[in-house]
Amino acid sequence: MGVFGVYGVKDASSILYYGLHSLQHRGQEGAGIVTFDSDGEAHRFRGLGLVNEVFNQERLSSLSGEMGIGNVRYANVNKGGSDNLQPFFFHHHSGNFAIADEGALVNAPQIVSYLENRGSLFQSAMDSEILGHLIKKDSNKPRIFQISDALNMMEGSFAFLVMTRNRIYAARDKYGFKPLSIGRLGDGYVVSSETCAFDIVGATFLRDVEPGEIVTIDHHGIRSHRFSQFQRHKMCSMDYIYLARPDSDIDGCNVHAYRKESGRRLFRECPCDADIVIGVPDSSLSAAMGYAQESGIPYEIGLVKSKYVGRTFIQPTQAMREKGVKMKLSAVRSIVSGKRVVMVDDSIVRGTTSLKIVKLLREAGATEVHVRIASPRMTHPCFYGVDTSTEAELLCSHRNTEEACRMIEADSLGFLSPESTIASSGRSDMCLACFTGEYPTILYNKNL
Ligand code: SF4
Repeated sequence: MGVFGVYGVKDASSILYYGLHSLQHRGQEGAGIVTFDSDGEAHRFRGLGLVNEVFNQERLSSLSGEMGIGNVRYANVNKGGSDNLQPFFFHHHSGNFAIADEGALVNAPQIVSYLENRGSLFQSAMDSEILGHLIKKDSNKPRIFQISDALNMMEGSFAFLVMTRNRIYAARDKYGFKPLSIGRLGDGYVVSSETCAFDIVGATFLRDVEPGEIVTIDHHGIRSHRFSQFQRHKMCSMDYIYLARPDSDIDGCNVHAYRKESGRRLFRECPCDADIVIGVPDSSLSAAMGYAQESGIPYEIGLVKSKYVGRTFIQPTQAMREKGVKMKLSAVRSIVSGKRVVMVDDSIVRGTTSLKIVKLLREAGATEVHVRIASPRMTHPCFYGVDTSTEAELLCSHRNTEEACRMIEADSLGFLSPESTIASSGRSDMCLACFTGEYPTILYNKNL
């Protein structure tokens, strides 16, 4: 999922449209925008589909005002459908407000029971609704303290945008799982899950929201409030590896540069004798370039992807995933035929995609296919909002590398080490829980 916010900019809904469009890779199931106009009147539209399917000029024109927040979302099995589309809007005597979020709480059931026992009724399964009920619970306090207290009850990964008629609050969980950055646009501000959206709307990067911080954006400018003194830097490594766009910078590290460095390290850790290096488009191309550069093996375009099919990994069902793979990739026969190919991919989840691509390359005449993965063996599920599947479905959860290699019918298989996955970012730490099983948070009653 991705969030985008605009404060103090004329025709905020148009900026939101382009901002959300540039975050489309973070979710294709649905999109929504809420704006407040200068009379404090809210305007909202949400719908299933891509951003350009949900919004047209007429709908954007009806979303008047100089401030707004929006969201693009993908469905996982439990949270699909139009009821769960964001932003959520809350009516309250202390002032109406809207919320959009990215991430997943690990203690959502506990908070929902707590709130239901106090009379709250839930219409959705979304974390934004939980935050809304928690904020409403303490309506006598100033809003910033309502939000701060609410966020302190929440455990897990989140990037929240809360918008009242006067201001936008941007908050990031105390572990810093999810990226969230602030940009300057004219006299106003934008907030985005990824910095790639800033270039698209003509904004300049100002700074990242820190883990455990709430940034208030209003006519005073921007102000910082810490809702937690506990602060860690457990940024989701999958954002660097797979999820984010290469033109985004996350916590000061460019995603393309990260992937290229991971490819260089991958060659040093898992060398291979071959004729060409190819990447699986789009998210693995940077790592493949790094692998080719370090090895001296020529980099080639051996696979081409149709631009009009959604991402395999975030479609909801296995049947759809398999259908998606067939529709979207083709091998370039004249490039791979008769060659020993190193195929660099960003990650292996279930292995179904890898198997299909290896077969595609062999059918196109590749004499050998060596698979190199620019991340460690994925062995555990994610509980922080990235749909990486259950442990039983993961190719490597109960198989060693040789067995996984046989399953995907490759000639050889190699993975990047957890140490190099972190070192490629120049950081000292990040979340690797789906590769190591070392979860940064308590998991409450999650089944491992
Ligand atoms: S478990 Fe994996 S996918 Fe989930 S937040 Fe951590 S690194 Fe990201």
